[in-house]
Amino acid sequence: MGFSFDLTPEQEELRRQAAEFARREIAPLAAEIDEKDDSQLLLSVGQKMAQPPYRYLGMHIPEEYGGHPRSLIDICIIMEEIAAIGQSAICAASIEGALLSPGPFIKGGSEEQKKKYLPLIARGEERISFCLTEPGIGSDVAGLETRAKLVDNTWVLNGRKRYASFAHVADYHVVFAKTDPEKGARGISAFVVPGGTPGFTVIERIPCIGMRGHQDEEVLIEDCRIPKENLIGEEGRGMRYALGALDESRTTLTSGFIGLARAALEEGVRFSKARKAFGQPIAEFQAISFPLTEVAIEIEAARLLAYKAAWLGDQGIRHTAETAAAKAFASQLLIKATNVAVEVHGGFGGTKRFPVERMLRDGRIWVFAQGAPNIQKLIVMRDLYKRLEPPPGLVEELAARA
Ligand SMILES: Cc1cc2nc3c(=O)[nH]c(=O)nc-3n(C[C@H](O)[C@H](O)[C@H](O)COP(=O)(O)OP(=O)(O)OC[C@H]3O[C@@H](n4cnc5c(N)ncnc54)[C@H](O)[C@@H]3O)c2cc1C
Repeated sequence: MGFSFDLTPEQEELRRQAAEFARREIAPLAAEIDEKDDSQLLLSVGQKMAQPPYRYLGMHIPEEYGGHPRSLIDICIIMEEIAAIGQSAICAASIEGALLSPGPFIKGGSEEQKKKYLPLIARGEERISFCLTEPGIGSDVAGLETRAKLVDNTWVLNGRKRYASFAHVADYHVVFAKTDPEKGARGISAFVVPGGTPGFTVIERIPCIGMRGHQDEEVLIEDCRIPKENLIGEEGRGMRYALGALDESRTTLTSGFIGLARAALEEGVRFSKARKAFGQPIAEFQAISFPLTEVAIEIEAARLLAYKAAWLGDQGIRHTAETAAAKAFASQLLIKATNVAVEVHGGFGGTKRFPVERMLRDGRIWVFAQGAPNIQKLIVMRDLYKRLEPPPGLVEELAARA
């Protein structure tokens, strides 16, 4: 006993509710947001997601700070339905952004900071952008070039940030900067910069092949002055807070990838039963149905990986490697599933008549959010190689034979 693949009745209800919300509020807008690259329309969906009974934007925020916390497994269930039924990467990504951005406050913020910032975010009244990536660094965060110096009790920030989602409408920005450059990742601190602070300027919206409407921006930070108390938690612990939050949000983001892969699969299967060639539905050709079947098998496998990582997190057990494995696997799956779906659609696959071309574009870029697939493999690889050593004597034996 103690092992079950069943969802509880409450989880079934959560799944049904998310699917119903996605069908009613997201699916009808998904193509339009993409077509117009309309971030306002996306934000209006975000507002609805924040409201009861859904409250999808406060799912990591503890109850005492106005949040509506849910287990990681529950969030995985919601994320999959939003992406699958809504056929929308960007709506699922918006939920993830709302879960990740307040993470540094939750992981390391003072009581005062938690009370000040978290309730408004949980209600969807205020937004936070997450400013980690820079033009010169993405994966290699220890190389971060933004600097913060304490001058007369004021932090002075200088640098550039890239890919800061929705920075133009954010009420606050969580900015990662080096306070002690000699210490690499351990010299990085997290700060909260109120929107409109002089010296913090959104200079460019970065056009993307996919995830259109999910506005990603470049930010210039020039002599930006913020009060001493805007340091989040302790100096030098910024990356620890970010990575702690990322362990959780990467787990549930994985379910978003699985959801979009599921949407692509379902489109492919339906189309292949309708489209005829050589006098029969193309589904009758195994060259068409086998790749779809492989995707179906891999979706099951990816879901198990994601649920295992989520379950570990819900038990309070460290799950960095399990989450990285799930995200790496689901990234490959998402690219494969959307590619197969376009292939099955033939020439139609590249047209706006069917949603698979949007899914292909979205999936291709989404996999980099919250850490490139190779970096997830790197995490798993380090864990694997840390655990296993050659048997006694093998090194010497091989050396002797060389
Ligand atoms: C939709 C979306 C939203 C995002 N939102 C935000 C946001 O709100 N805030 C934010 O700060 N960032 C955001 N990002 C940025 C994202 O976190 C980065 O894109 C990601 O961390 C990868 O960094 P990079 O793009 O600079 O790639 P790089 O780090 O430059 O990597 C380039 C390539 O090299 C590979 N690579 C790098 N190092 C290694 C290695 N050691 N071994 C093997 N391969 C390696 C990578 O896998 C990748 O294929 C967002 C990205 C996307 C796509």
